Amino acid sequence: MRVIVIGAGVVGAATAYFLARGEHEVTVLDRHGRPGQGASFGNAGQLSYSYTDTLADVGMLRRLPGMLLGRDRSMRIQLDLPLLPWGVQFLWRCTRRRADAATVQLLHLAARSANALESLLKDAPLDFGYRAAGKLMITGSGQTLAGLQRRADLKRQHGVRVDIIDAKDCLAIEPALEAWRSPILGAAYAQNDSAGDAESFTRSLCNYLITHGLARVITGTEVQSLVRHRGRIIGVQTPSGLLESDAVVICAGIGARQLVRGLPLCLPIYPLKGYSLTAAPGAHAPKVSLTDLDRRIVFASLAGRMRLAGLADCVGDDDSIDARRVTELMRLGSEVLPEAAHFDAAQPWAGLRPATPSGLPLVGGTRVPGLFLNVGHGALGWTLACGTAQQLAEQLPKRI
Ligand SMILES: Cc1cc2nc3c(=O)[nH]c(=O)nc-3n(C[C@H](O)[C@H](O)[C@H](O)COP(=O)(O)OP(=O)(O)OC[C@H]3O[C@@H](n4cnc5c(N)ncnc54)[C@H](O)[C@@H]3O)c2cc1C
Repeated sequence: MRVIVIGAGVVGAATAYFLARGEHEVTVLDRHGRPGQGASFGNAGQLSYSYTDTLADVGMLRRLPGMLLGRDRSMRIQLDLPLLPWGVQFLWRCTRRRADAATVQLLHLAARSANALESLLKDAPLDFGYRAAGKLMITGSGQTLAGLQRRADLKRQHGVRVDIIDAKDCLAIEPALEAWRSPILGAAYAQNDSAGDAESFTRSLCNYLITHGLARVITGTEVQSLVRHRGRIIGVQTPSGLLESDAVVICAGIGARQLVRGLPLCLPIYPLKGYSLTAAPGAHAPKVSLTDLDRRIVFASLAGRMRLAGLADCVGDDDSIDARRVTELMRLGSEVLPEAAHFDAAQPWAGLRPATPSGLPLVGGTRVPGLFLNVGHGALGWTLACGTAQQLAEQLPKRI
């Protein structure tokens, strides 16, 4: 089939690859001049195969008053109309049973994604700083550590190993923690979690698709609307005209909501704005990926650079860089590991996580014939990209 993929982020690039391997004739379109310039650009680089814990959880209810009063440093909420229905669904998800169920679903999807990435890399050896870095989720709180233990037990039942370790073992795994300036009670250690630069992956995968004749990748082209004929999607409208296809797959991240306007579809996706700082490594740069669960920040070593990422702001579709939030992120990082990197000369970035209330992405066909979705990956888009791409490609019929 002739398939148009809207969006050349990490999800769109992976989707194009698995569709092309399924012998579809693929065209990828993106409004940016280069692939990987959306949410995939400056993320924390974590292939977080073991830590799929959803944002919607019981703990979130405890944090809510602080967030609404602007006292939570890692999350900001500015009430707007689209946030209300999304927020209601999100709060409904904040029970232990629902959070566990979604976390387990994501765990299985992440395992599938790890296998799908391995098979892709056997075929297409891409350079994106990929390594099995391992991941430490650190906390100084007894309550958080007990929660980690409970989740580790749950994950073990699903075949995923996460070790709960004390501060001494943390130091043995990552010597840079010697310079950690906050008390460590313990951590969850995921030995098999990996890291890699999502933007480099996306860019090199798109190059691979082009040079191997697997797909056309057209950048600098906005999809203005989906085109329907007798109820079926027959292509997309771009500034240079109608591009026809047998199927359209929306991989447009946060842009997906705009594209389905006017169709009988409502996508429960809200932009959760996050920030990162990328800088040259400092004297105490960790090699293992470190998540500080108390401050909700991540330190990641990516292809010779150190990246600090975090914050989740509900401020609508605005993806501009707010200098106050950059300073806050820098402050949070400096509080615990000031010598991880030369953050005073860091490159700041902000991106919009396309988040669903449950944390589960929307993958597959829709009630509109010819229209498919692979969107809403929230805080785990890089982790899940290859898995959902493979899943989507399996669902697409070979012919109409
Ligand atoms: C601070 C931060 C840290 C993160 N850390 C991690 C992490 O460590 N691990 C992890 O797994 N995930 C992480 N994420 C989440 C991850 O980055 C996202 O889930 C993922 O990048 C989403 O990919 P995507 O391809 O769906 O969206 P995008 O990368 O945003 O790609 C969508 C593309 O669609 C294009 N587009 C949209 N509308 C149109 C249109 N009408 N016409 C043409 N093109 C269009 C856009 O230009 C864009 O290039 C993080 C996110 C943030 C913000």
